[in-house]
Amino acid sequence: MLKFHNTLSGQLEEFKPLDGNNVRLYICGPTVWSFAHIGNFRTFTFGDVLRRYLKFKGYNLTHVFNLTDVDDRIINEAKNAGKTIDEFTQPFIEAFWEDFDALGLERPEVTPRATHHIAEMIQIIETLLENGRAYESDGSIYFRISAFPDYGKLSKINFAGNVSGASGRVDTDKYDKENANDFALWKLVDADEPTGWGASFGRGRPGWHIECSAMAMKYLGETFDIHAGGVDLKFPHHENEIAQSEGATEKQFAKVWLHSEHLKVEGETMSKSLGNYYTFRDLIAKGYTATAIRYLLMSVPYHKQLNFTFETLDGAEQTIARLRDFRKRLQEANLPDGINPNLQTKVSSSLDDFEVAMDDNLNTSIALAALHNLVRETNTAMAHAVACIEDRSVILHAIDKFDQVLNIFGEAKTEMLDAEIESLIEERQEARRNRNFPRSDEIRDTLAEKGIVLEDTKDGVRWKRK
Ligand code: AMP
Ligand code: ZN
Repeated sequence: MLKFHNTLSGQLEEFKPLDGNNVRLYICGPTVWSFAHIGNFRTFTFGDVLRRYLKFKGYNLTHVFNLTDVDDRIINEAKNAGKTIDEFTQPFIEAFWEDFDALGLERPEVTPRATHHIAEMIQIIETLLENGRAYESDGSIYFRISAFPDYGKLSKINFAGNVSGASGRVDTDKYDKENANDFALWKLVDADEPTGWGASFGRGRPGWHIECSAMAMKYLGETFDIHAGGVDLKFPHHENEIAQSEGATEKQFAKVWLHSEHLKVEGETMSKSLGNYYTFRDLIAKGYTATAIRYLLMSVPYHKQLNFTFETLDGAEQTIARLRDFRKRLQEANLPDGINPNLQTKVSSSLDDFEVAMDDNLNTSIALAALHNLVRETNTAMAHAVACIEDRSVILHAIDKFDQVLNIFGEAKTEMLDAEIESLIEERQEARRNRNFPRSDEIRDTLAEKGIVLEDTKDGVRWKRK
C-alpha cells in the first residue's frame, strides 16, 4: 500500500487518487534564468522517481511541470543583455531539457511556460479582487491574507490573526501593503518597461506564486492529487499558491503535498547565491556520467538531506559500472540447464522488498539495497554454478522491473518499449511496401527474439508479447 508523508496533514497517509486510477500531479519547475544546478536536479530527480513509481503502481498519470520564464531576475538579466525575455530564456530552456533528458528524467505530460498563461493568472486575480481577498495599492495587486483564515496551514506558521508581526520570509516589496505578509499577485510596471501585460486592473506582470496556481488548475482542475517541490518552496511559495487558489475556488487545491530536502555542500544548501554549486554540465565536463549523478541524487530518500561530495560521486560511478557489468555477465554467462527454485524465491523477495520500500514514502535507499541484494545473491549462485538458464530471464526481467523506476542500467533492456516496437513495425510495413522482404523478415525475427508476436489482420498489424 503506497503511503506518502503529506506536509499538509503532517502524517504518513495511504495514497488514494481522487479519480479512480488517474493521478494528477504538479511539480514546480525551474526558473530559466541560468543553468540548473544539481541541487535543483535533486528535486527534479525526486519528481522523476515519484512519477515513475506512480506508473509502476499502475496509475495513469497527468504530470504538469512548469517553467518559470518571467520573474525579477529574468527581467533584469534580459535587460542587461539587451534581449527580450524570450530571447534571454530560450537557450536556458533548451539547456534545461538537454540536462533533463541526459539524467534519464522522463518528460512530464504537460510542460507549460508562465508567459503563455498570463490570461489564466489575470482571471484568478479578478476573482480574488471581486471576493475581497485581493486589493490594489499603488497600482499593484496584493493578496489579503487576513481574508484567508487558513493561511499558514501548510507551513504551520502561526499567523494568529496579526499577520504583520509573523515570522517567516517576508516578501520585500517597495510597494505599500496592508500587512507585511500580503504578497503581490500583480506588479505594476512603468509605461516604458518592455515586459508587461494589459489587464482590467492595469498593465503589469504577475507575481511568481500566481503562475503555478494558474498552470496547475488549467491542466489539472481546481482540485488535484499531488503537488511537490523543494522544501524551500513550502513557505511562502506553496502557502501562497494554496491561498490564491482556494481563495478563488473555495475548494481544496492539492490533496497531498510532498517536499524534497535539499542537496547540501559541507552542511550548506547548494545554491546560486552562496556560490557553492555545480551545474550538471560542470560535472559532465569533469568526466562524470549522467547515470552516476542520477544514482547519487536518488541514493538518499527525498525527505532527507543529502550531502554532496566527490567521494560519493566516485562511489556512484563504481556502483553503476558494477551493476552494468553484472547484467552483462549474467546475459553472457554459460549457465547449466534447469532452474534453481531457491534463487527464484530470492528474486521475487527482492522485488517485494523494493516495492515495500518504495511504498513507504519512496524510501529509495532501502529500494536500492533490495537491488544490491539481488545482485549479491545471483553472483553467489553463479560462483557456485547453481544459477541456471531458466533463472537468467527471470533475473533479467526483475532488473528491468527495478529499472522502470531507477533507470540506471542504460541500454540493452530485455523488454522492448511499446514505442520501439511500434516504430519497428512501421519500418517493417514500409519495407514491405518497398518489396524489401529481407529487411521486413529481419525485423520480424528481431521482434520474435524479444518475444513480440506479429499478426497481420485486415485492420493492419497487431502485436502482443509472448
Ligand atoms: P528554482 O529554479 O530556483 O525555481 O528552483 C527549482 C527547484 O529546485 C525548486 O523546487 C527548489 O526547491 C529546488 N532546489 C533549489 N536548491 C536546491 C537544493 N540545494 N537541493 C534540492 N533542491 C533545490
Ligand atoms: Zn510553483
